[in-house]
Amino acid sequence: MKLDASNLWQDVLEDLAESISKPNYDTWLKDTIGISFQGSTLVIGTRSEFVNEWLERRLKPLILKLVAKRADEPLDIEFKTISIEKEDNNEKVFALQPQYEKAPESNIKEKNQQQSWASSQTNLRKNYIFDNFIVGPSNRLAFAASQSASNSPGKEFNPLFLYGGAGLGKTHLLHAIGHSCIQQGLNVVYLSAEQFTNRLIASIQKRNQRNFRNIYRKTDVLLVDDIQFIAGKEQTQEEFFHTFNELYEAGKQIIISSDKSPNKIKHLEERLQSRFEWGMIADLQVPNIETRIAILKEKIKTHQVKLESAVLYKIADICTNNVRELEGSLTRLLAASRLTGEDINVALVEDTLRHLQTTESLYTPPSIDLIVEVVCDYYKLENTDLLSSNREKQFAYPRQMAMYLLREIANISLVEIGRSLGNRDHSTVHHGWRKMDKGQTIDEEIKRDVSNLKELIDRKRRIA
Ligand code: ADP
Ligand code: MG
Repeated sequence: MKLDASNLWQDVLEDLAESISKPNYDTWLKDTIGISFQGSTLVIGTRSEFVNEWLERRLKPLILKLVAKRADEPLDIEFKTISIEKEDNNEKVFALQPQYEKAPESNIKEKNQQQSWASSQTNLRKNYIFDNFIVGPSNRLAFAASQSASNSPGKEFNPLFLYGGAGLGKTHLLHAIGHSCIQQGLNVVYLSAEQFTNRLIASIQKRNQRNFRNIYRKTDVLLVDDIQFIAGKEQTQEEFFHTFNELYEAGKQIIISSDKSPNKIKHLEERLQSRFEWGMIADLQVPNIETRIAILKEKIKTHQVKLESAVLYKIADICTNNVRELEGSLTRLLAASRLTGEDINVALVEDTLRHLQTTESLYTPPSIDLIVEVVCDYYKLENTDLLSSNREKQFAYPRQMAMYLLREIANISLVEIGRSLGNRDHSTVHHGWRKMDKGQTIDEEIKRDVSNLKELIDRKRRIA
């Protein structure tokens, strides 16, 4: 009997449907077809190169076995990306798909369903991309692994586990992977472990855990920041364990960041620890002085200023702890120079960054009164205006700014801030803080005010 490629493959698909999970089947096999025989090779058409690679890697042995059984003889198989019909200049064209151009169709459908939720396009910072991440010996491995993970998601760097101290670029790399995967048409979910926990709790309370699971277990790429947060939280770990397994089984990419390596996270279940160690682990360390200077050069590109190399060297020399501190120092210097009209020179650097040269323990945060006073001065308001219940913008905006600064700079609790600012509820304070926190990325005025106020508060604190 002459074999028909299409029928043979249909039969094999039936067998496959019985032996692998439905999500896997739907994602990887549903849209495949038997095209032809080339000698003793059965050619199978798929939707994308991405699918080919996954099938090659995960299912080839099983498929070979099933094909041989159905065909009554051993045959080889080959996956080929074929003819996805698409509208191009109003003309239907059949095109071979370039590598990784498209995610499997089923994922695209899911993507539309998820758009309203955590789906990420919106919560990735625009400027956290690979292009402006400066690479040096301290982060080369983490950078290369991140790029590889985003070039071939779900492959050998799965999971990818990035760890390192605060301000060393973990979040930046996670977002960069996210951007790159989105560009490939993949569905990406980015969130912190804290958000994962909070949303899990909310879903339990609202009895819609199914919805929760659909979001996190059905994405192509899951990026979880600061996983150390789930330490000691049993139910979150349980949920994350299943999320991890389901994604992993389906060949989806998981990327995790943490402040420590998996084996150093206390109160982390062993089964999670071992899974985190399955793929690739890369650490980020404090950059050396050359890298710090290169980072400064990158950062000043966005501010129209030129800094002499002696100045750059001085800043990099003082800021040795992490990149966030380096960036923060640069922002302060720019603000100081704007406020005083002085050019940024080595003396100004030394003066402005003096606090970093003293030991940490000497640093005491500014008081509530000091912050409130500076805010009132800056906006030319009376203290009573700030504490009043008047919600007109001229009062509400400075009040929210004060909330933000009290929390950011002085680490004061929301409840305490509410109490100090005219007995307001902590949720009102949270709202104000968030508005300013978010606002800085979209609103130049907020950004400028925050930067000026921080500088003024710091000056005043040093005089006090
Ligand atoms: P982490 O998540 O490790 O605490 P972030 O990713 O938030 O650190 O980085 C802190 C800041 O430093 C961010 O603004 C980030 O863009 C910047 N940064 C860190 N590393 C680099 C780097 N190698 N090149 C450019 N910017 C960097
Ligand atoms: Mg971070």
